[in-house]
Amino acid sequence: MRDVVIIGSGCAGLTASVYAARANLKPLVIDGVEIGGQLSLTTLVENFPGFPEGVQGPELIQRMRDQAARFGAEYRAGNVTAADLSKRPFTVTVDGESLETRTLIIASGASARWLGLESEKALIGKGVSSCATCDGFFFRGKKVLVVGGGDTAMEEAIFLTRFASAVEVVHRRDQFRASKIMLDRARHTEKVHFTLDTVVADVLDPSRGEVVGVKLRNVKSGALTDRDVSAVFVAIGHTPNTAVFRGQLEMDAEGYLKTQQGTRTNIPGVFAAGDVQDRVFRQAVTAAGSGCMAAIEAERFLESSGQ
Ligand code: NDP
Repeated sequence: MRDVVIIGSGCAGLTASVYAARANLKPLVIDGVEIGGQLSLTTLVENFPGFPEGVQGPELIQRMRDQAARFGAEYRAGNVTAADLSKRPFTVTVDGESLETRTLIIASGASARWLGLESEKALIGKGVSSCATCDGFFFRGKKVLVVGGGDTAMEEAIFLTRFASAVEVVHRRDQFRASKIMLDRARHTEKVHFTLDTVVADVLDPSRGEVVGVKLRNVKSGALTDRDVSAVFVAIGHTPNTAVFRGQLEMDAEGYLKTQQGTRTNIPGVFAAGDVQDRVFRQAVTAAGSGCMAAIEAERFLESSGQ
């Protein structure tokens, strides 16, 4: 029986584990599929306080992990496949094994969204990617496409110019969701150009087992055009990882967990931190902040329930 189980090993989960470990609660962190969360897929993080020169995302994550381990946090590889929150202690199933815990901190984050095309699905890992940092390297000297009009799309496009000969950003509207600073940076980056009011209608060519181009559709005129590109980076936002809690925890229409007073879910003793409950800020430092809140809440909950 655990006092605190933390689901997720990103910035929120690891910060919660630092606080819970220092409170002597010996938290168990379930790593999840994407170990280290989204920060582990980033390069330079320039806006985390305390790092005036910036810090590499994976390094920041490793430092948090080491920090929590120093105070007694434990880590377990694996993914939560089921949870029973109907009674205390709560039960979570990690790859077939059941664990009992008095409190639960859900910091399972959000995963990349896909366009939903059959051809896209067939070519994931074969030229279709949601992570420029992970896969950009493979397209040295090639033309690549980025889909999306948010900050992630801008960041990925700029990053990809390190390798690609040309980067085309395809966005479904003519207005951007990206912040002005990121958009300006992308606009002023050589090799990046934009195609607006346009969607990807098809990725070519699943029968060849690699990306050789895309079919684009202008949403205003309906006109179809082909592009020869070697990769498609899909940067159209994220979906919260909350499927196993459906029907037990309150969530909004998109599946983000609803919280009150910071990190309290509708079930006492279950807390949510980071991107899984934050669709607005989604920053490393806000995720860390809510991880801290969740751990303090869990500690107080244990104290007040005399456990
Ligand atoms: P956003 O939700 O901000 O943007 C998603 C983009 O994808 C939108 O332009 C949206 O279009 C488009 N889109 C969504 N679904 C589809 C679809 N099915 N087909 C085509 N286009 C689609 O997500 P981001 O990942 O860009 O950003 C998430 C958060 O992270 C934001 O708060 C952002 O500011 C932050 N961030 C900050 C960074 C930084 O400051 N360095 C870097 C990266 C992210 P539409 O606009 O029409 O809805």
